Formats: sequence, C-alpha cells, structure tokens
Amino acid sequence: FGGFRKTSERLSENLAAPITGVVGTAKLDNATLDTVEDALIMSDLGPSAAARIRAKLTEKRFGLSITERELKEAVAEEIAEILRPVAKPIEITAFPRPQVILVIGVNGSGKTTTIAKLAHWFKEDDYGVMLAAGDTFRAAAIGQLATWAGRIDVPIVRGPEGGDPASIVFDAVKAATEQGIDALVVDTAGRLQNKRELMDELAKIRKVLGRLNPEAPHDVVLVLDATNGQNALAQIDVFKEVAGVTGLIMTKLDGTARGGILVAAAEQYGLPIHAIGVGEKIDDLRPFDPDLVARVIA
Ligand code: GDP
Repeated sequence: FGGFRKTSERLSENLAAPITGVVGTAKLDNATLDTVEDALIMSDLGPSAAARIRAKLTEKRFGLSITERELKEAVAEEIAEILRPVAKPIEITAFPRPQVILVIGVNGSGKTTTIAKLAHWFKEDDYGVMLAAGDTFRAAAIGQLATWAGRIDVPIVRGPEGGDPASIVFDAVKAATEQGIDALVVDTAGRLQNKRELMDELAKIRKVLGRLNPEAPHDVVLVLDATNGQNALAQIDVFKEVAGVTGLIMTKLDGTARGGILVAAAEQYGLPIHAIGVGEKIDDLRPFDPDLVARVIA
C-alpha cells in the first residue's frame, strides 16, 4: 500500500503550530496569554476550548517564567486533557454478531474511503468484515464502494442505484449472520440538502435493523472533514439530530492546518473520537492518540 509513515509525520506536515513565536517576555503575563488564546482560536480550537486552556495556564503558571518550549508543552498538556476522555476506538463486542456500524456524513467528507479503511483495519485484526452499499442515491457511490471491497477483499452487499437502502441493509444483516461476519459496515446517503428525506431513510434503516437485532445499529459513526473547520461542527449538530451519532472519525488531518477542530469537537460535544484520517491510502486511518495529536497541534 505504498509507504507507511508515522502518524505524527503525516499530521505535522501541514498543521499550524500556533504557539511558535508567541512568548515575548520571560514571565507568563496577560499579553502572552492573549496571544496564546488568539492563536488557539485561529487554529480552530474554538473560543470555548481556547478560554479553558487560558484559564488553566493562568491558574498554574501566571507570573512564572516560561520558555517557548515550556509554554508549548503546557498548552499540549491542556489540549491532551480535553482529548483524552473522548479517545475511544470502535471495539467489536456485539453479541450476537454482526456488529452493525452505520457510517454517515456529507458527500465529500471521505466517508467511502473511511469505510474501506475501517474494514481493512478490522480485517487486519482478524475480524470477518462485510460492507453494505446503503448509499443508493449517488450513482458513483455503489461502484466506488464495490471497487474498495474488491481491493481489500471483503464481501459487499449491494443493490441497484436508487434502490431501497433499508432492504439492502436487511439483506446484508441476513447474509452477515449466515456467514458469521463480525462487523458489518454500512454506507449511507449523505444528503443533508434534504434533511427530511435523510431522516426518513435513516429511520427506516433503523426500523429494519431493530427488527433483526434490537441492539443494532451498535455504532453510528459520523465522518467529518477537518478541512471544513467550523462547518464540521455544524454538521455534528445536524447529524446528531437526524441520526443519533455515537462517535466521530475526522478525516483529512494531513491536508489542513486546522487540526484544532478536533479539540473544538471534543470540547463541545464530548462524542467519542474513534480514529483519524491522515491520507488517501488504505492504511491512512490511524488510532486517535490524544497525546500525540495534542503535541502536534500545540
Ligand atoms: P465521500 O464522498 O464522503 O464518500 O468521500 P470519498 O471517500 O470519496 O473521499 C473524497 C476525497 O477525499 C477522495 O479523493 C479521498 O481520497 C479523499 N480523502 C478521504 N480521506 C482522506 C484523508 O484522510 N486525507 C486526505 N488527504 N484525503 C482523504
């Protein structure tokens, strides 16, 4: 799959380092704290997380001498404190199997690629994986998912374009159960333009799933594109309302200086962050390591 690079390298290529060049004086004073807070807001951490970090720095270090390096470390520690509680990989624990993982997100967020990466990841862990092509609205979506399924060699249940997603999901759960599949990863349509239709579609999928297994879907994973900045947060609001999100995967963290959006999401929503996307290749989905990400973002 091409060169595998360490997560930190993939992340730090483009991420801004807001704290660099910030310390003007030897002691941590209000002017420096202002600059730190502004820098954090600029890198998309959002006003609330930035204020929280400022308050912590004030409480612990105000008036004390601090070097730029120490300041960076102190900020990284505060960011890590926000991120640690939400770092939570998807674990395959469902009984009876399969664990049904609905994947939602707007078109272009990296949803299809993320489904393939997730499936590959589970497969590497020796789980039996199946995909369901529940995004029947876009002509290309089914084909794209099928291509990935072939490449990573996992079975896929698909129907015709414009077909009924709920019936595909029904068929997929039956097939997965018969074949002893551990994880069924379901693609869904991401059309936020028509909230009502999307809501109805997801409700119908849930109803069908619930009939087969009251616990399903076990996970409802929202895929967000980090390069969308604050707009990604707005998507959390909408999808929480229409789909009952249980966790997030943030993609394209290699392509943005706006990694702070992860911190804003963690701070404002407290939803589990399952993984991060750091590239287009199949092994570019990485576990979400809060300490590593905090060090790179600060
Ligand atoms: P979908 O429309 O949400 O299903 O999005 P796709 O999975 O088709 O992805 C849209 C584009 O984003 C494709 O070109 C992907 O290769 C790219 N992409 C997905 N995830 C990442 C990522 O983590 N980093 C980068 N750089 N590109 C990504």
